[in-house]
Formats: sequence, structure tokens, C-alpha cells
Amino acid sequence: MNIQNNINQVKKEIENACISCNRSVDEVTLIAVTKTKPVEAVEQAMKLGIIDVGENKVQEITAKYLVFEDQLKWHMIGHLQTNKVKYIIDKVSMIHSVDSLKLACIIDKEARKHDLIVDILIQVMIVNEDTKYGINEEALEELLNQVKDLKNIKVKGLMTIAPYVSNPEDNRAVFTKLRKILIDMNLKNIDNINMDVLSMGMTNDYKVAIEEGATMVRVGTAIFGERNYTKG
Ligand SMILES: *Cc1c(COP(=O)(O)O)cnc(C)c1O
Repeated sequence: MNIQNNINQVKKEIENACISCNRSVDEVTLIAVTKTKPVEAVEQAMKLGIIDVGENKVQEITAKYLVFEDQLKWHMIGHLQTNKVKYIIDKVSMIHSVDSLKLACIIDKEARKHDLIVDILIQVMIVNEDTKYGINEEALEELLNQVKDLKNIKVKGLMTIAPYVSNPEDNRAVFTKLRKILIDMNLKNIDNINMDVLSMGMTNDYKVAIEEGATMVRVGTAIFGERNYTKG
């Protein structure tokens, strides 16, 4: 396993995917998902030019933030409990996993205490799976209308976690759908809501996601190898 080769490979594939659909490679941000990986791996990635990193646990962000601070942009991509917002609010560059009014309000409140405007994405569940978080498409417009006047958050776009599929083509419709929803919501002309971020695509399907308009891809395994959850 060689992180340098892996990063080069992923960047190359992002470039190829962009070329194949006539997009500029600057439109796509690679978020290296460092969850469960040690500080040494994060440091290596940073030295190889990675700027954006994704984590799904508050504790892991706070621990790694102690080491790297603002040398890296921290993306919270996992489910966020309202009582833990305060630990990461001044550390994260974006929260991808906002899926309730309550959570948005707490993020807004905690951001205000630090005089920050925090960028957020609304997590949308495209394929119904009980185990996944995210709001339903039908509830999105109402949520946007409820959060539009919160002064210390800025809704930048939408995020989804597609199902695990063996053939990435099977997720193409999921990504197309999220893009369509973003366009539809922008057309509603909700005050303060003008979204351009689509956070979608992981190791297995980021190429397809880019072809369908992803502006952020969240890639872990292809860069750092399989995660080992058993060591706790
Ligand atoms: C773990 C994780 C990823 C990265 O998954 P890989 O398949 O390892 O690339 C992306 N997004 C979220 C929300 C994750 O939790």
C-alpha cells in the first residue's frame, strides 16, 4: 500500500472523469477520508498535497485537529449529534451531514458564539435505507425554508451517501437525482439559498458521481486502503 501512488491514481481518475464529461478538474474537490487512519497517514497525505480531509466522528476530528490544526480543511461527513456540535464548530471547514432543523439550529447557535459563519450541506437520502441518515427529498424544501434565515450558517449544497453496490453504474441514477434536486431547489428562489456544492461519490463510484456533477468526492479506501474497525 503506497499512499503516494494511490493519491496520484485517484487524481488521475478524477482528471479522466472530468475530461470524459467536459468538466474542468478545478470543479472537483478531492476530500481524503482519513477516518480510522492514524496521524502518520494523514501527515503523509498532507505532504502529498491533500488539503481537504473527511472524518465521521467528532472525537477523531478533535484528536487530529490537535496535531494539524488549520493546515488541513476538516470536513465532518458523518452523523452529528447535537450535543457534540460545540466540540468541532470552530475546527471544521464544512459540515456535510445536516439533516434536521434541530441540528441546523444548534450549529447556527454554536457558530454565533465564535462569530463564525459555518458552511453546511444538507444530507439527502435518495435511496431509502433505514440504516442511513439524511432527509427525504419531500422534506428538503421545507427544511431550506426553515434554515434560510439562520445567520451563522451558510447552506452551500447537498450531500448524499449512495448505497454500496458492486457495479458503480447502479448508483448513476442516485447522483443524477441529487443534481436534479439541487437545480430544482435553486429554481425555487428561496431567500439566501443558492447552492452549488454536490458532495457525492466514494471510492467505489466517484467517477460516475463526477460524470453526474459531483463537486466534492469523498475517497477513503482508494487512498488509505481498507479500514480496520476491529482494533477499536
Ligand atoms: C467512510 C466514508 C466515505 C469514504 O468511503 P470509501 O469507500 O472508503 O471511499 C465517504 N463518505 C462518507 C460519509 C463516509 O462515511
